[in-house]
Amino acid sequence: MGKKQFKAESRRLLELMINSIYTNKEIFLRELISNASDALDKRYYEGLTDPAKNVAKKDLWIRIERHPDNGTLVIEDSGIGMSEKELENNLGTIAKSGSAEFREAMEEASSSIDIIGQFGVGFYSAFMVAKKITVLSRSAGSDEAFEWTSSGQDGYTITNAEKDTVGTRITLELKDDTEDEKYSKYLEEWTIRDLVRKYSDYVRYPILMEVTKSIPDPTDEEKTIDTMEEETLNSMVPLWKKNKNDITEEDYNEFYKAKFSDWEDPLKVIHYNVEGNVSYTALLYLPSRTPFNFYTSDYESGIQLYSKGVFIFDSAKDLLPECFRFVKGLVDSDDISLNISREILQQDRQVKALSKSLENKIKRALEEMLEKERENYEKFFENFGLNLKYSIYKSYGADKDKLQDLLLYRSSLEGKYVTLKEYTERMKEDQKEIYYVCGSSIAEIEKLPVLAKVRAKGYEILYLTDAVDEFVIRMMNSYAEKQFKSITEADFDLASDEEKKAREAAAEENKDLLTAMKEALGSSVSEVRISGRLEEDPVCVVADQGMSIEMEKVLSQDPMNKGLKATKILEINPNHPIFAKLKSVYENNPDALKDYADVLYDQALLIQGLPIEDPAAYARKITELLVRKE
Ligand code: ADP
Repeated sequence: MGKKQFKAESRRLLELMINSIYTNKEIFLRELISNASDALDKRYYEGLTDPAKNVAKKDLWIRIERHPDNGTLVIEDSGIGMSEKELENNLGTIAKSGSAEFREAMEEASSSIDIIGQFGVGFYSAFMVAKKITVLSRSAGSDEAFEWTSSGQDGYTITNAEKDTVGTRITLELKDDTEDEKYSKYLEEWTIRDLVRKYSDYVRYPILMEVTKSIPDPTDEEKTIDTMEEETLNSMVPLWKKNKNDITEEDYNEFYKAKFSDWEDPLKVIHYNVEGNVSYTALLYLPSRTPFNFYTSDYESGIQLYSKGVFIFDSAKDLLPECFRFVKGLVDSDDISLNISREILQQDRQVKALSKSLENKIKRALEEMLEKERENYEKFFENFGLNLKYSIYKSYGADKDKLQDLLLYRSSLEGKYVTLKEYTERMKEDQKEIYYVCGSSIAEIEKLPVLAKVRAKGYEILYLTDAVDEFVIRMMNSYAEKQFKSITEADFDLASDEEKKAREAAAEENKDLLTAMKEALGSSVSEVRISGRLEEDPVCVVADQGMSIEMEKVLSQDPMNKGLKATKILEINPNHPIFAKLKSVYENNPDALKDYADVLYDQALLIQGLPIEDPAAYARKITELLVRKE
């Protein structure tokens, strides 16, 4: 059979691999062993679900051979193997080629570092260390074997071959040593030992290799002689089954990175055992950053399901509640049947119990983190807090009890994060509600005219800066029997009885002016009134019952909601010079009042971050007023 060309994407990836300056080339071994282990899993699983296949655990192994004489390293497994077609499909194209992000990242990548770091590139990573690769494979259930060979970019060939046993044998012809890079080190016993221990110790099949053993010399007791003997390099105990005290932080982190394709250490490890109704071990991780596709439908939650140490499948969605879908990791349970399918996962009683237990454990772990590792928790929240909020919103508040104590908000007090519990516990004695204010950023919020007075009175105000925040707050309605209250809502009022009386009197006195202004503004506002909440600013808009100003901003972004508006009230500061000016305009030149009303209203909208209807008219009126002033 003639030489075939790699698909365009694969060629580009190969090129990156071959010329890689990635310093961590050694990960190729981890990738190949991991592929071998997956192939063994598949064969073992087949045997378990179909006893006729007769697969004994002892026949499942990975073997590493070093051949310093011809510079080759061999990784062989007795796994499921590949047919001719599979060799072609799996190795002729990159496995990840289906993923758009991967393709994009690859096109942009100037070096292999980003690609290897971000995606882990599996089989092709072997081209970082090998100038030629041969894959000899025989698929389970077939007598035929095939050999795939490639020296990289110039293509590959597949030919008929002979192989006595089922499985795959990969031969790497290592690159020649250079000054910067000694490829021959991968033929040394200790290097391989080291790499296996570092990256692949938990693999549940023996990784065998001939090693040097010193035995006493039978002819001379004083001496020893070296012989070669096959040894299992890995402990084979899955990491999660090991005693916690025997696991180092590095073990946990390496395992995470290898298994869940992340290049950063996790933020937090949650490892525990449950005995009871449904017994299981869980090894869970919180990533230290938000996966780039987390808020898209491409994201797959990373919980893997094992039964008695045997891998069943990836991304078992129904195991994890939506609110915690950022958790990566695995669950191994003796009580889950190996034959369980994805389809029945949802209905399975044991799975339900397991999932409930997982949920409680994750919740408790997060609470504990919040309590004891505040800084870490805040990092976590910055990455995934939004997901918690969406969950409360999407569940119509049903998730409230579960999640409300995990929420953090910035507040006016110290600019730090505060929990609802902390907020309510330090509320002022006379404060009955939880005060909040919305804006697109802290900086914008801090400039809001309505803020100063509430702050000056010593009340703490929660700053809500995510678009979903106010929807969530409304869904929650209250916390610890305290209602949430926006300080930009019409009926928010901190005035004393005396102040209220004075305001009523002023309103009465200026009734005609206020009515005239309302008329001038038409249906844009439901009312124009004297404000009790302004300190130094002339005007503000507040929302009447129903939709808030922030909600208008969010909802109006959806074309479906075009024209949707909060009912607004324009408030005027009676202590501001503008008020006296308005009075005089109304008395002396009532026709000019509309311009004043329009300008002040537009101003109030702008300060709130709302668009104004006619910016040109606004600019023109300002200019006219400036000119008129002289
Ligand atoms: P990934 O492992 O992420 O799918 P790879 O490029 O490492 O990507 O491998 C591509 C595919 O080739 C694998 O999904 C698997 O089907 C097949 N494969 C690789 N190595 C082996 C092996 N040792 N035995 C059987 N199949 C293998």
